Amino acid sequence: MANDSNRFQAIISHCKEYGFIFPSSEIYDGLQAVYDYGQMGAELKKNIKDYWWNSMTQLHDNIVGIDAAIFMHPTTWKASGHVDNFNDPMIDNKDSKKRYRVDHLIEGHAEMLKAESQTQKADELLASMDLLLAKDDFEGLKKLIEDNKISCAISGTCNWTDIRQFNLMFSTEFGSTVSSDDEDNKVYLRPETAQGIFVNFLNVQKTGRMKVPFGIAQIGKAFRNEIVARQFIFRMREFEQMEMQFFIRPGSQKEWYEFWKAERLKWHQSLGIPAEKYRYHDHVKLAHYADAACDIEFEFPIGFKELEGIHSRTDFDLKQHQEYSKKKQQYFDNDIDPATGKPYGNYIPYVIETSIGLDRMFLAVISHAYEEQDLSTADKQDSRVVLKLPAKLAPIKLAVLPLTKKDGLPEVAERIMSDCRPHFRCFYEEKDSIGKRYRRMDALGTPYCVTVDHQTLQDDTVTIRHRDSMQQERVPINELRRIVLESIN
Ligand code: ATP
Repeated sequence: MANDSNRFQAIISHCKEYGFIFPSSEIYDGLQAVYDYGQMGAELKKNIKDYWWNSMTQLHDNIVGIDAAIFMHPTTWKASGHVDNFNDPMIDNKDSKKRYRVDHLIEGHAEMLKAESQTQKADELLASMDLLLAKDDFEGLKKLIEDNKISCAISGTCNWTDIRQFNLMFSTEFGSTVSSDDEDNKVYLRPETAQGIFVNFLNVQKTGRMKVPFGIAQIGKAFRNEIVARQFIFRMREFEQMEMQFFIRPGSQKEWYEFWKAERLKWHQSLGIPAEKYRYHDHVKLAHYADAACDIEFEFPIGFKELEGIHSRTDFDLKQHQEYSKKKQQYFDNDIDPATGKPYGNYIPYVIETSIGLDRMFLAVISHAYEEQDLSTADKQDSRVVLKLPAKLAPIKLAVLPLTKKDGLPEVAERIMSDCRPHFRCFYEEKDSIGKRYRRMDALGTPYCVTVDHQTLQDDTVTIRHRDSMQQERVPINELRRIVLESIN
């Protein structure tokens, strides 16, 4: 593959061709930055969700999951700071009328400098940007763009407007009789799932009899009116988050922040993706609610980018909800504080958040798995596209392929299907040559194919083919279920 941009395009085409991801409402030419998951994509996405959900809730006795509504009382977003602060600095090019997020514009220029081996200049540019962003110095940022002659990709000019803030929340109205400009009836589509957890903190703590430290996990849709939205499912206007808020004693935040930072990286690496594909990026400019924050970045085909955020959110959110709702958000801790010899007593817990985009995780998994292989030999040209997905995430685990449609082979194949179907996702295919069927399963990321042939009728064995090595071996039919289950658990 010539370069990463070609590779990214190839992955996007592959996702469409094999039923992973389609542009939303494609027959009407699609909707920018909105995508639909097809029959294969929905399975892969569900497997990623389950893997996250189980590792959070099943493997931690002190973490429980909830499923809060997308619509929330509008005051939620005043309390959380999103109405006033959920803004990104934007700049417009006066000639092309194209709007850019300031950090993305500068980062794009830095990438270009790096590609031209001007790494030091790029690093200096990014460092200056971080400093100016941290101070909300918009004049300084505009000057940085002008001094570096950063131009618009469309018009090619440096004719920029001043930098302004834009709120990223979508809103709609509740009820049918009220006029749309009535601010009181304005409801937002949640821009993060976290607030659904905060407003339910006491409900869960009391009904679940949870003791600090404990966590609440949630998977759900979030919506942001992203301005720059040209990166496939990396940046969408409707996307899904997998978030966990971990409630802790005030003063223990450093220790728990480090714990979750390490724990989340371990989770990523448990999927078998090499460690060098990940790196931490500590935030210089902290969000209005955080006292420490970092990203776990992944090397996507578009470069190292944020995959997950780990934030020490202090008691900001619960305190704000206490103030706006006038309902106490306190927890009574009856453990003994060794410093005083008395119970810790009442406090508003601090929070460590882990927040990962499900769609970004999907992109990380599929882009790492995608491989174009040249299998040519001296006398034959050959190639294949294979998705080397971790077996536990693969949409289909086992393909059952009778060599021919007759001689009783489909009946044996059906026997295998009914034995395995209740345990994992299987797929039956009798069309096309066996070679073509293997290639199709490689492209879908199916880790195992079994071929039922005439020898099967004699000794009840089949050929099992391993996706990555393409090695084949003969195994008894009654071993199949165990082999597949062992590799996915
Ligand atoms: P970015 O800087 O890339 O916009 P962010 O810092 O705003 O991301 P957070 O608010 O920390 O993101 O959200 C947590 C996670 O949600 C991110 O790490 C990312 O995986 C995911 N996410 C955020 N915005 C989007 C989006 N527009 N499309 C897809 N996933 C997203």
